[in-house]
Amino acid sequence: HLAVSLRGVTKTYGNGIMALGPFDLAVRKGEFISLLGPSGCGKSTVLRLIAELSAPSSGIVRVARHEGEVQPGHGIGFVFQEPTLMPWASVRENVRLPLKLGGVPKAEGRARADAALASVGLADFADSFPRELSGGMKMRVSLARALVTDPDILLMDEPFAALDEITRFRLNNDLLALWRALGKTVIFVTHSVFESVYLSQRVVVMTARPGRIRADIRIETVEP
Ligand code: ADP
Ligand code: ADP
Repeated sequence: HLAVSLRGVTKTYGNGIMALGPFDLAVRKGEFISLLGPSGCGKSTVLRLIAELSAPSSGIVRVARHEGEVQPGHGIGFVFQEPTLMPWASVRENVRLPLKLGGVPKAEGRARADAALASVGLADFADSFPRELSGGMKMRVSLARALVTDPDILLMDEPFAALDEITRFRLNNDLLALWRALGKTVIFVTHSVFESVYLSQRVVVMTARPGRIRADIRIETVEP
């Protein structure tokens, strides 16, 4: 069954730039795919269309939902390259934010935030503040915040691009372990061929703008 499907999708922005398409992509539930392509080819646009942060100019974007889920963006976790944490709030409060906005009671929200922090290896940092954390740790907080609502789909937009090699590799391995444990659909935008092949089951390579699919490569993963 499909988690996401885009059919005949194009996107032309208000300034006349045709960013995408026509673009067709079907992502199965639980799949981990990477989107690879030159800068400006429309990778972020694909993620924003899936998250319903932007509407297609033509074509159809479908996202599988649970019964009763109607709000745009519900069921989707988004991780950006910039962790965009609130500097005045503790790590726990940063992670709890989506639950707070969703009206989840404080005690439950705090417990779920702590569980999400534990899942990314930051159980001991709930009371810290963002300024006290390294870049890799801030990224983990950002990942915990995306996971705290238990979304079916995780969209990641060049999340690790600003990190040093070792931190990036650790995060790659931890993300893989999380994906195996949680069974979520992951759509991962990256510039790194290594990262795309290392992480995903499938690499979708895009052309330069307007982005179309150039190659759709299945990776035969051998379990470690
Ligand atoms: P949409 O068609 O998705 O509503 P718009 O063209 O209305 O998008 O632009 C949305 C926002 O993005 C505007 O605030 C605009 O200033 C900003 N923006 C404009 N050009 C670019 C660009 N080249 N890259 C990123 N953001 C841009
Ligand atoms: P990528 O993620 O592959 O770098 P993007 O999806 O961010 O590509 O952008 C694709 C193209 O659309 C780029 O030329 C970018 O400048 C343009 N663009 C992105 N967002 C907007 C916007 N809101 N308004 C106008 N142009 C945009």
